[in-house]
Amino acid sequence: MKAQCDHYYCRSCVTDDMKCIICEQPIDKEKLVYDKKVHRAIQALTVLCSNQELGCEWADQLKVLPNHVKQCQYKSERCMNCGGRIPALTYQDHIKICRLSVQKCEYCQSTIRATLLEKHLKTCPQVIISCPFQCGAKDKTRAEIDAHRTTCPNAAESCPFMAMGCNFKGNKEAVQKHLSAEPVKHMIYLCDEMTELKSIYSLMHYEMSCIEPKHDELMRKANLLQGELQLTSIFPDHDL
Ligand SMILES: [Zn+2]
Ligand SMILES: [Zn+2]
Ligand SMILES: [Zn+2]
Ligand SMILES: [Zn+2]
Ligand SMILES: [Zn+2]
Ligand SMILES: [Zn+2]
Ligand SMILES: [Zn+2]
Repeated sequence: MKAQCDHYYCRSCVTDDMKCIICEQPIDKEKLVYDKKVHRAIQALTVLCSNQELGCEWADQLKVLPNHVKQCQYKSERCMNCGGRIPALTYQDHIKICRLSVQKCEYCQSTIRATLLEKHLKTCPQVIISCPFQCGAKDKTRAEIDAHRTTCPNAAESCPFMAMGCNFKGNKEAVQKHLSAEPVKHMIYLCDEMTELKSIYSLMHYEMSCIEPKHDELMRKANLLQGELQLTSIFPDHDL
């Protein structure tokens, strides 16, 4: 647009009470004149993409810039949480990892930092899961499944001989089968256990026999002392 002083401005740049920056004459917004020739010349200027600083290397005439910007892959949006300019292509990913964004857990409705949501979902008591032992129980909350674990017919149990060295694990039925399938193996576990108990017992017995004489000695001394104590309380002034 041409101002009264013959200098050119774009309409959006002219403010109220503005003076021409070249000749310092006041510019009347109402009296700007459209100049087709100058407009064309400006539109023909080569410009860089507005997303140039984000990496776009596009450069072309100003008149085709609006078209390019619409589909520019470097187009950016402001993150509503951290305020950063985020390339539109990765905006959805950024929202998930933005250090300031919070999201609602869709199961328990609590508000969680987006970066911690994944972790939360692994422990959230309201998340819907199925029984880890594949008993068929499903569509239950984690809290319900946790309560169900102890009663689940498929829950893994250890062989009752675990303490003696059997590592077998399985559901109730499997443990029963395992026990009846390998009676000899378990007998050996029992034998080993018995032998070990026996040796522990004889060791203890031996230690006891060493302690016993000392024990008798201590008892004798204790009785003696007790006797003396009684005497002193009967004759408090008597020098023993
Ligand atoms: Zn302007
Ligand atoms: Zn001027
Ligand atoms: Zn661009
Ligand atoms: Zn952000
Ligand atoms: Zn939750
Ligand atoms: Zn189950
Ligand atoms: Zn076993």
